[in-house]
Amino acid sequence: MRKSIILILFLYSLQTVAQIKSPSEFLPNYGKQITFYHQTEAYFGYLVKESSFIKHQVYGQTNEERNLNVYFVSTPENLANLDQIRNNNLSAIGLSNQKNQKIGDKLIVWISFSVHGNEYAGMESAMTVAYELLNPANKETKEWLKNTIVILDPCENPDGLSRYANWLREISGKKTHPGLSDREHMEVWPGGRYNHYIFDLNRDWAWQTQIESQKRIALYNQWMPQVHADIHEMGYESPYFFPPSAEPLHEFIDQYQKDFHFSLGKNIAAKFDKENWLYNTRERFDLFYPSYGDTYPTYNGAVGMTLEQGGIGAGREIKLANGSHLTTKDRLTHHAKAVLTIIETASNQSDQLLKGFRGFMTNSRKKAKGVYATYVMKNNPKSEQLVELLKKNGIEYSYANASQKSIGFNYKTKKDNAFSIEPYDLIIKADQPRGVMTQVLFEPNQKLNDSLSYDITAWDLPLAYGIDGYALKNSLVINTKPSIDRKELMLPEKVYAFHIPWNNRTSAKVVSLLLQNGINVRTAAQKAVFGDVTVEAGGLIVSKGDNPTILNFEKTVSDIIKTKTDYNYLTSGFSVNAHDLGGENFSLIKKPKILLLSGKGVNPTEFGAVWHYLDEVIQYPTSIVDVSNIGRIDWSEFNTLILADGNYNFSDDLKSQVTDWIKKGGKVIAMNEALGLFENNDNYALRVFASEEDKTKAETEAKEKELKSRLFDFHNNERRLISSSIPGAIIENTLDTSHPLSFGLGNSYFSLKTDSRKYSLLTKASNVIYVPKNYSSYGFVGHNLKKKLEETVTFAVEKKEKGTVIYMIDNPLFRGFWENGILLFSNALFQVQY
Ligand SMILES: [Zn+2]
Repeated sequence: MRKSIILILFLYSLQTVAQIKSPSEFLPNYGKQITFYHQTEAYFGYLVKESSFIKHQVYGQTNEERNLNVYFVSTPENLANLDQIRNNNLSAIGLSNQKNQKIGDKLIVWISFSVHGNEYAGMESAMTVAYELLNPANKETKEWLKNTIVILDPCENPDGLSRYANWLREISGKKTHPGLSDREHMEVWPGGRYNHYIFDLNRDWAWQTQIESQKRIALYNQWMPQVHADIHEMGYESPYFFPPSAEPLHEFIDQYQKDFHFSLGKNIAAKFDKENWLYNTRERFDLFYPSYGDTYPTYNGAVGMTLEQGGIGAGREIKLANGSHLTTKDRLTHHAKAVLTIIETASNQSDQLLKGFRGFMTNSRKKAKGVYATYVMKNNPKSEQLVELLKKNGIEYSYANASQKSIGFNYKTKKDNAFSIEPYDLIIKADQPRGVMTQVLFEPNQKLNDSLSYDITAWDLPLAYGIDGYALKNSLVINTKPSIDRKELMLPEKVYAFHIPWNNRTSAKVVSLLLQNGINVRTAAQKAVFGDVTVEAGGLIVSKGDNPTILNFEKTVSDIIKTKTDYNYLTSGFSVNAHDLGGENFSLIKKPKILLLSGKGVNPTEFGAVWHYLDEVIQYPTSIVDVSNIGRIDWSEFNTLILADGNYNFSDDLKSQVTDWIKKGGKVIAMNEALGLFENNDNYALRVFASEEDKTKAETEAKEKELKSRLFDFHNNERRLISSSIPGAIIENTLDTSHPLSFGLGNSYFSLKTDSRKYSLLTKASNVIYVPKNYSSYGFVGHNLKKKLEETVTFAVEKKEKGTVIYMIDNPLFRGFWENGILLFSNALFQVQY
C-alpha cells in the first residue's frame, strides 16, 4: 500500500517536470489547416503516452469504422479510482448501490466537440484544452482537476468531420482563400455537418437512431455528469455565443441550472472582455426540444449548454464584414478559452453543482414536476420499439400483470377517459431516477413559454408510435412484471401457410428479407379469418403453394421471420368469412426495384432519412443515383422511384419520360418539396387550391394582409412571421382504413408536420390520410395556419393507368423516430400495389 503511494508520488513528480508537446509542436499545421481525425487521435494518443493525467476509452465505432473516443482527464489518484468515482456518483442519485465511502465526491464535467462535422474548430480546440489541462507548467488547471473529472469527447461525428476535412484539404492551396465566394467557403453536397447516413446527430440524443448517439449515450448514462457542454460553430459573421440560453426554456429546468448558466456566462464574458472579443448570450439557442446535446443533459440533471463560435463555411480563413479576417486559429482559441472557463467555474462551484444535481435527480423522485405520475401504454406490437427507446434512455418500465379500471388523460382525444388496464400494458412511472427525462418525453401538455423555438415543439410518444396511451395523475398501484414472457411457437410438421401480422417496423423488415430471398409473399386486402387465426388487412401470407421450390419450407421461412415474434401459421386456406387464401383478397407483393435520387438540390437530411430507412431499418437494396446522372438511367430496371424532399429541376423531356414510365407501371413516392414536380400539372391531380374560387379568395386575403401591414413596427416582424409558421407540431389526421397506404396504422394517424406546405383535398385521387375539420394539434401551430390546414390532404395516392404516384406532404421518416411513420412509408413501398 505504502509503496504504491510512494510510486504514485514519484511518478507525479516526474510528470510535473516532464515537458509535453503542444498541439502546434506536434502538428505543424495546427490552426492553419484542418486537422484530420486520425491526426487528432494521434495527438491524444501521444498525450496518453506522456501524461498520467489522462486515460483513453474507445466507446464505439462509426458506420465508416472510425473509433469513437473519450479521454478522462484528472489527477492520477482520481484516474486510479475512476470506477468507484463513477459508482459513487450514480449511487447518490439512486442508480447504483455500490458506494465506496473512502472516496470523496468528485465533480464530472463532460465536454463534447464537433457533433456537426463541418464545425471543426471544436475538435481543434479540444487539443488545446487537453494540452492546457495536462501541461505541467500550468499549475492552475492542476488545481481544478483535484475535485473534477473532465471527460473530453474530441469529436462526436468523426465521419462527418472527415468528409469535410477531405474536401477542404483537396481544394486548399498554399495560400488561403479568404474571398467570400471562393470554393473553400462553398461546401459541396451533402456537407460535413451530418454523419454517414446524413443524420443531424444534434437532433438524435433522445431518439438514438444513429450508432454514434447509441454508443455515446450508453456511456453518458453510465456517468451522469453534472455539467455537459456541446461545442458548435455557426455562421461565420456571428459573434461567440455562450450561456445563459434563450427562451423558450422548458418549465422543468431548475433554478440551480439557471444560476450556473448565469455565473458561468459572467465568467466567460470577463475573459472575452479582456481580449476585446465580441459575444452574445440569451439570443437564439433555446432549451426545449429534448434531443439536443444541451437539453438532453439538462433533463438528466446536468447543467447542459451549447457554445457557438462563428465559423461554418469559414474554411481556413475568411474576410468578415468589418474587414478583419477570421482564421481557424481564432476560432479554436475562442473555444479553448470558453471551455477552460467552464471547467474552472465548475470546479470552483463543485459543491453547489453536486448539490443541485442530486437535488434535481432525487426531488424528481419525490415530487413529479409534471401533472401526471403514471403513463400507461396499451399493449400493442408497436410498443416493442417504444421499449427499445426507454432502454436506450435508462428509463424504468414494467408490464401490468392484472386488470384494473382507471381514468386517465387520453393522448389521442386530449380528454380524460375511463379505460381499463390489462395485463401486458406498459407502465412507466414518473417516480424514478430519470423522472424528469421521463416526464419530458411523456407529459402530454408541454408548456412553451415562447413560440420562437428553433425546432419541433411536440413529440408525444404514444402519437409517434401509434399506441393508445393514458397519463394518470396518481401513482398507479398494480401488480407488474418486468418483461413479457413469450412462448415459442411449436410448428407442426406441415404448414400450409405462414401469417405475419402487419403492425410494426419488424413486419417491413421481414417482408424485405423474404423478398430478397426470392420468396413469394401475399398481402390481405381485407380481414380474413381462418379458424382461430385472424389475418387483418395488410397481413402477410407466405404459402407453400406460392413457393413450391423452397426446400424445407417450414424451417427456411420460420428462420427468416422469427424476429417477428407474433407470426403464426395456417393449416388450411379455407376462410370462415369467404376470403380464402387462393382468392382475390390476397394479392402477390411486387418486389420493389428502387431508385433513390441524391445530390445537389435534394434536402440532405431528408434524403438521409430515406437512405437510412432502406439500408438500416429494412435492409433493402437500392440504387442511389446522383440527380445529375438521371439521364443515364434505364427506367426499365426500376419500378419504384423515391423523391425525397428537394428541388428537382427536371426538364420537360425528363418529366414526360417519368410520366410515361408511371403509366407503364412505375410507382413514385414523392415527399415535401418534391411535390413541386406534380403540383398544378395537367398530368396529375395535385392542386394547392381545390378551385379557382379558393385560389382567388386566398390571393385577396394575402393582398389585404399586405395592405394592413404597412404600418406594422419593424421590431415585431419575426413574431408576426411565425403566426403563419409551424416549426414542428403534431397534426391529427383521419384515415381511409380500407386503403393499403393506411394498413396497420390504427384508426387515426398523427403526423409530424415541419413546414407550412398544404394542398386541398384532391379530386381524381385517393385522399387516404387527411386533416379533418376541428382537428387536434400538439405543439406550436401559428394561428394563421391553424384554420387553413383543415380539410387539406397529408398523404394521397393517384393511379395513372398501370402506375401510381404517392404524395407525401409530410415526411413520415423525419429524423427516423416516428414509428408509425416508418410503417406508413413501408405501406407505400410494399402494400400499395402498382
Ligand atoms: Zn452545430
